[in-house]
Amino acid sequence: MKDKRFVVYRLQKLAILLRILGFDVLYFQNEDYISVINLTKRKYRILLSRVKYLRKLPWIFYLDKDDLDGQLEQIIKELKLKVNRESLFSRCSNCNNILQKVQEEEIKGEIPLDVCGRGYWFKRCSNCGKIFWNGNHMPTLEEKIRKIGVV
Ligand SMILES: [Zn+2]
Repeated sequence: MKDKRFVVYRLQKLAILLRILGFDVLYFQNEDYISVINLTKRKYRILLSRVKYLRKLPWIFYLDKDDLDGQLEQIIKELKLKVNRESLFSRCSNCNNILQKVQEEEIKGEIPLDVCGRGYWFKRCSNCGKIFWNGNHMPTLEEKIRKIGVV
């Protein structure tokens, strides 16, 4: 079931991490719960939630843990998600759009000088314009990814 799609409400770090892993995640911060639930139903998504009184609703997946690693572990295990190596870093963590690979020469001037000429890969979001590369955050992320297992 690698096609599971999610809605995340107010758990921003979780939304970002799931997008980095390649999952389709809509994230909401300020909307009211009713709108978010209605949207979840309309879009046939699963709402990942920490709100106890909603846990009985069918499209809600209730997260037992408060910490990010614990939440991710529970989601991967109980929803039987597979994280594919090819889908890592395929989505914009800012807006959920699919990222496009770009050459360093194309984006010179838009990236910090200290990431130039290091052989990093670069990806750009055509929706919000954000540029991503494999920089300093990679070792911690790689470790997280190793822990949950990637196919
Ligand atoms: Zn974006």
